[in-house]
Amino acid sequence: MAKSALITGITGQDGAYLAKFLLDKGYEVHGLHPRRSTPTTWRLEYLGVLDKVDLIEGDLTDGAACMGAVAESNPDEVYNLGAQSFVATSWRQPVLTAQATGVGALNMLEAIRKLKPDARFYQASTSEMFGGIKEHPLQDENTPFHPRSPYGVAKLYAHWATINYRESFGLFGCCGILFNHESPLRGIEFVTRKVTDAVARIKLGAQKDLHLGNIDAKRDWGFAGDYVEAMWKMLQQPEPDTYVVATGRTTTVRDMCKIAFEHVGLDYEKHVVIDPKFYRPAEVDLLLGNPAKAKAKLGWEAKTSLESLITMMVDADLKRVERELRA
Ligand code: NDP
Ligand code: GDP
Repeated sequence: MAKSALITGITGQDGAYLAKFLLDKGYEVHGLHPRRSTPTTWRLEYLGVLDKVDLIEGDLTDGAACMGAVAESNPDEVYNLGAQSFVATSWRQPVLTAQATGVGALNMLEAIRKLKPDARFYQASTSEMFGGIKEHPLQDENTPFHPRSPYGVAKLYAHWATINYRESFGLFGCCGILFNHESPLRGIEFVTRKVTDAVARIKLGAQKDLHLGNIDAKRDWGFAGDYVEAMWKMLQQPEPDTYVVATGRTTTVRDMCKIAFEHVGLDYEKHVVIDPKFYRPAEVDLLLGNPAKAKAKLGWEAKTSLESLITMMVDADLKRVERELRA
């Protein structure tokens, strides 16, 4: 019989890639899908899997809806990817972020504990939990946490709730501490996609400048398509555990911009405008992950270089913008 997977956040970047990955492995895929006033399924459509997944209406902040989704999907594996995931928004909507990103995970854990305690659970933890730590330039599973945003704080709650349910009730709860990962399906508000979309528009004459905040921040950027495989691998291990998933290379926002602009023969310095509006109340200056444990135990490694990732994103945005301008 096919295994059943329940993905929260199935309409997001990772949810869409993971849905495709699991369908290709023969899983029956269900997704918790919060009601919105306009359709949010474009990523599932882009990957050609919209008609192959079962969408179950529900919001992570609604414990009854989480129970309903577990009852309906009877999952072997639950991937908790749903979240208010944008750091900058978390200062403007801190309570919503705490409820969706933090307590949402607890709602899902409770639903599993009560209805399907043998289901395996994946929690989408994040390198943002390391935040302000400066004395550990290379971050691994033992690096102390110091979140720098309401988003990081909420994720830390969900992270510890997962470990606590593992220790208290023996649930198979895994945490993947994933460093930033991007793709042509990344939300437009995140810096890589904001840059690649702007590069496409500038190249095609539809935009002149690109307004950015702190371009000296450094991130360890990988490709989302590679990272969803690590999530799945965690749930196939004999024991639940916590893993860092990263590339082991860090790059400034400035150098990432350079790659994107140079790909279409443009000079980023002629177009990037520094705009204090995009500075954050507290910044995470440097993220650099050590994926040694994921490599040793999961046999997982990032396959896509930053150059391939950014050029893939620019090319996809060029096609999109061209279509948009033709319409
Ligand atoms: P996205 O923002 O693209 O997707 C988030 C998903 O969560 C969307 O489907 C969204 O639906 C859904 N969602 C938001 N609020 C709720 C809610 N209250 N109830 C149910 N669903 C909700 O994020 P990514 O795909 O990039 O990331 C997946 C997960 O991994 C997130 O938890 C994120 O925080 C985490 N993460 C991501 C990293 C990255 O670099 N991408 C790094 C480390 C962790 P809708 O669109 O309708 O709002
Ligand atoms: P994050 O690491 O989850 O916050 O991912 P983002 O892609 O949102 O931001 C990555 C880094 O880029 C952060 O250090 C931001 O401060 C920095 N940055 C600089 N300018 C911008 C901008 O205009 N938008 C965003 N989203 N980030 C920016």
